[in-house]
Amino acid sequence: MTPQEFRKMAHQTADWMADYFEQVTDFPVKARVQPGEILSALPGLPPESGTDSETIFRDFGSILLPGITHWQHPGFMAYFPANTSYPSVLAEMVTSALGAQCMLWETSPAATELEQAVMGWLRDMTGLPGDFQGVIQDSASSATLMAVLCAREKASGFQVAETGGSAKKLMVYASTQTHSSAEKAVRIAGLGKTGFRKISVRADFSLDPAELEAAIREDLEKGFLPCAVIATLGTTGTTAFDPLPEIGRICKTYGLWLHVDAAYAGTAFLLPEFRPLAAGLDLADSYVFNPHKWMLTHFDCSAFFVRDPDHLVNVMSVLPDYLRTKSHGRVNNYSDWSIQLGRRFRALKLWWVIRSFGVNGLRDIIRNHIRLAELAESELKTWPSVDWMAPRTLNLLCFRFTQPGLSVPEENDLNDEILQTLNQSGKVYLSHTTLNGKLTLRLVTGQTTLTEPYLREVLDLIRQISGQILASRVSQEKK
Ligand SMILES: *Cc1c(COP(=O)(O)O)cnc(C)c1O
Repeated sequence: MTPQEFRKMAHQTADWMADYFEQVTDFPVKARVQPGEILSALPGLPPESGTDSETIFRDFGSILLPGITHWQHPGFMAYFPANTSYPSVLAEMVTSALGAQCMLWETSPAATELEQAVMGWLRDMTGLPGDFQGVIQDSASSATLMAVLCAREKASGFQVAETGGSAKKLMVYASTQTHSSAEKAVRIAGLGKTGFRKISVRADFSLDPAELEAAIREDLEKGFLPCAVIATLGTTGTTAFDPLPEIGRICKTYGLWLHVDAAYAGTAFLLPEFRPLAAGLDLADSYVFNPHKWMLTHFDCSAFFVRDPDHLVNVMSVLPDYLRTKSHGRVNNYSDWSIQLGRRFRALKLWWVIRSFGVNGLRDIIRNHIRLAELAESELKTWPSVDWMAPRTLNLLCFRFTQPGLSVPEENDLNDEILQTLNQSGKVYLSHTTLNGKLTLRLVTGQTTLTEPYLREVLDLIRQISGQILASRVSQEKK
């Protein structure tokens, strides 16, 4: 490709991107392809000679685009969003042109120092404890893994790092509603499936602190070494908030590391009125939240904060001679704060997003998302066939349709049919969770492009489709 061709294609691509954002509702939000369909449209062997960009772009449109689920579609209300924004995309264009690998301060001083600055901004914007220091990770999963490694080494006095094992069995605790990345982290850290103890939850799906303390005491009696609690602010299933003040007190009493996973809900702490939900965070040793979920910064960008960066670096750093630089000890080398050596220049998109919207601009958007959830909640609560499955704290609704006379499995089938039909409509994409054995629909209003009129259209569609399916069940029963 010549520089002239690149310039032409880049302009065309930028136009395509702008059109895509403007016309994203022309696509069905959830991809409608069958497993293997895209793969079978791709040649098994790579091309021997080069293909021009026009052709590649055309094939992207005809072969790949039908297999894309459109996360930036206003009808994307499944899981948690991974929302983006124009400023975030612009920053990525620049990042990809720089192609910098920002592992050490020396390999791009601006990347390191911008990361240091924006992580300080994020901490202060969201009201985190002033002594937290942050580093950007690819995902909350990696951040939680690092937290478990820090906890493991602290509890064992670096015995595991030294010898690969510990004298006593190390134990990590989290609620039954904790994200799967916590259990995965414990397994990867070598503590084993039996080193992860799930604590039961209360009626609102938050961790029961009395059960936690009982479990720790029981394990101590067995001669185990309790080393960490992973508490969640805003669980994935229902956005439940674990009681941090009580959990923190227990961690202090028994000397456990407290890691707090606020992957989704952390963005809500931009709003001072939601900060009471983070009370007790001053007791945490580490904390993670994902700007790449709800803060208009495209995937991947996870903000990991620790109270004691020296401990983190002691756990993570392996320094061969070829990575030793003159500036060591005077600057942050973020590869020492991460699992991977190589690092993308992720701070740029955060900087671009925060400057472009301003903190107040971001706050307005987040407040609006929560207002839309309130609106949907009050609408759904007027429908006689809707059961509320968990309290709403932010912008996730957990509900289910019911019909008198149906057993729980029959009702699960009913809700599954409603979910599948909605998701095939192309207009909305919801996901589900299971709460106390009951299939529950999850609807999240966190998409950058979501508007009140679009939400009202979605609610109409849910009313119409659920109404048809409920009516057909009634007529089946009569037969
Ligand atoms: C989404 C989510 C995660 C996982 O986030 P990744 O960045 O994809 O690893 C972890 N914890 C909670 C509570 C989440 O909602």
